[in-house]
Amino acid sequence: MKTVPRSKVIYSFSSQHKPAEHIKPGEIVLLETEDALGGQIKNEENSLDVLDWSKVDGATGPIFIEGAEPGDTLAVEILDIKIDEKGLIVTVPKHGILGEKPFKPSTKMAITKDGYVHFDEGVRVRADPMIGTIGVAPESDEIPSGSLGRHGGNMDVKMLTAGTKLYLPVFVEGALFAAGDMHAVQADGELCVSAIEVAGEALLKFNLIKNRKPKWPILEAHGSFAILACGKTLDEAASSASRAAVKALMREYAWSFEMAYMFGSLTVDLEINQVVDPKKGVRAVISKEFMSLDSLLT
Ligand code: CA
Repeated sequence: MKTVPRSKVIYSFSSQHKPAEHIKPGEIVLLETEDALGGQIKNEENSLDVLDWSKVDGATGPIFIEGAEPGDTLAVEILDIKIDEKGLIVTVPKHGILGEKPFKPSTKMAITKDGYVHFDEGVRVRADPMIGTIGVAPESDEIPSGSLGRHGGNMDVKMLTAGTKLYLPVFVEGALFAAGDMHAVQADGELCVSAIEVAGEALLKFNLIKNRKPKWPILEAHGSFAILACGKTLDEAASSASRAAVKALMREYAWSFEMAYMFGSLTVDLEINQVVDPKKGVRAVISKEFMSLDSLLT
């Protein structure tokens, strides 16, 4: 098994980055990641003023997957996630869904122990470690690792936990996969712009599906598929997620648009990933009872 250390950090998804590691399909990789603030904040007194903003939202990688070519799908299985005990969450003025309201920059440290995040005296939340940023090099030259798109990136989807599979469209030779930004726990929306940010390590298995790819990253978990779309607004993201779902239903059942549109009203759940990143994220979730992976790829 290969290990990619957290020192191999990138701040954008790009075809121009030199691979940190080369692997073959079927290989398992241990990926070490730094927290989203680059490990720069060590205590609650550390003001955000000391933060070097060029060193936030990093991702570990990129990993070159042999045989991956544009038009393929990279299947990433999250076998396991381990996170550090010590995590933190911050408020950043002008950021988050309530960013227009005046408030102070603040930092809260939180320990994850015995399966719970201890947020405050007597207040704990069940830990559900997840990967915030995960993706491949995009078609265009470069996308900052704090942003998101069809290539994945800073999607902040709370379902990206151990046991899930992610299908990413490949745009460049080798795919150039990278991931980082783990959260000990995050709710849909990620209201204040951060979650419990932690360093950690992920055990990942990579495979390829040749000559077919999804329009948006697809997540497979809990008996369902989720299409992970994004847009400038929630409306735009919801529309893109729905369009991809209805098209997949047309393929699955060889139906007209109207039939698939109606059936989507009955079976496709639209859920919010986050409302605080450079693009808003919405997922269209559909049970495997009604959808095969095959119909999600073209
Ligand atoms: Ca994030």
